[in-house]
Amino acid sequence: MTNTMNVKAFFNFYIRYLNTFMILAIALGGLLGYLAPEMALTLGFPGDLFIRALKILIVPIIFISMLAGILGLEKGNELGRVGLKTFTYYMVTTALAVITGLIAVNIIQPGKSETFHLTPPPIEATSTAQQGGLLKVVMNVVPENIVQAAATGNVLGIIFFAIFLGVALRHAAGDELPVVARPVAVLFDALIWMVDRVMVIAPFGIVGLIAPLVAETVLSNDFAELGVEIQWYFATVMSGLLIHGVITLPLLLFLSKVNPIRFFLAMFPAVSTAFSTASSAATLPVTIDSLQSRAGVPEKYAGFVAPLGATVNMDGTAIYEAVAALFIANIYGIDLTFSQQCIIFLTATFSAIGAAGIPGAGLIMMTMILSAVGLPEDGIKLIVVVDRILDMVRTGLN
Ligand code: ASP
Repeated sequence: MTNTMNVKAFFNFYIRYLNTFMILAIALGGLLGYLAPEMALTLGFPGDLFIRALKILIVPIIFISMLAGILGLEKGNELGRVGLKTFTYYMVTTALAVITGLIAVNIIQPGKSETFHLTPPPIEATSTAQQGGLLKVVMNVVPENIVQAAATGNVLGIIFFAIFLGVALRHAAGDELPVVARPVAVLFDALIWMVDRVMVIAPFGIVGLIAPLVAETVLSNDFAELGVEIQWYFATVMSGLLIHGVITLPLLLFLSKVNPIRFFLAMFPAVSTAFSTASSAATLPVTIDSLQSRAGVPEKYAGFVAPLGATVNMDGTAIYEAVAALFIANIYGIDLTFSQQCIIFLTATFSAIGAAGIPGAGLIMMTMILSAVGLPEDGIKLIVVVDRILDMVRTGLN
């Protein structure tokens, strides 16, 4: 009897201090990877399990939370109002992010050296795949097949269908709207309950994700061989992310009368999951859960805003795209004109919107920006070494 009570008391204590355990897990993972890399490489299992458990919830939670959000909105034009505010917020913060990146890279000027330049390889003709890059992103919003969209992780496609169905249900239900909205809301609560259970293994998952990653980096010796210029590039992206995360976003929260520190603490499970998984999509269930159960955002708003935000509002990625493009220009000794920087501004904004919420998506979008301004795509090879760490931090910000 007392034993059961002890276990229960420990479990309650564990859940209560989950945030702290998650921070400890990040530190422990880093230490294990650094001090005992060979052993750390064998620790991946809980990490994979954690990601799989989150991934299993992504599609149902996007679909049901969007639907619950739309069905929960008031009659009249609340959908239009919330939609417009959300859209404006996403555009403004993404633009601010790209500008922050551009300012940071123009001040620090990583890759700009009097003595050292790489010779740019001959520019190849832009491939058709890249030319179709942006159009393809837009086209994917309307998937041919909803099951395929779910199976291939086409989040925007699922969101589109959920909004469409939600609006249709509101029309079809008329005065009976609560009859339809109620079961969807219960289903949503059930999914959030499932996320809470998955989070129980989060600290173990985080150790399992971080330890092998650090170990691989230590064993490959990549960091020791990094050139000074790449270290400056790394520092520039980090400063951009830091400014946006510590100044710009808290300021926006403050102006919206939300206490930034309290909000950050409430969202900490989402931030640390994003950091360790480097995937906004995998983190989405935790984001919605934290918004609703910890930050006190009403379900109808959290359910509507978070899936869209996790997919299109990637400020960290926006900063990184702007810095990386200019760094590559610098290192090849190519001076970009003002209009080329404007193109970078636009393409970085759209890349951040179009990038999927998966690890390395930003790196893939880089090819689009480089070809848009005629920079050598080979430049990607320079930034790939430090990409995973930057990916973790930018996903935390996203
Ligand atoms: N991994 C990022 C995310 O999921 C996207 C990126 O590569 O920048 O938010």
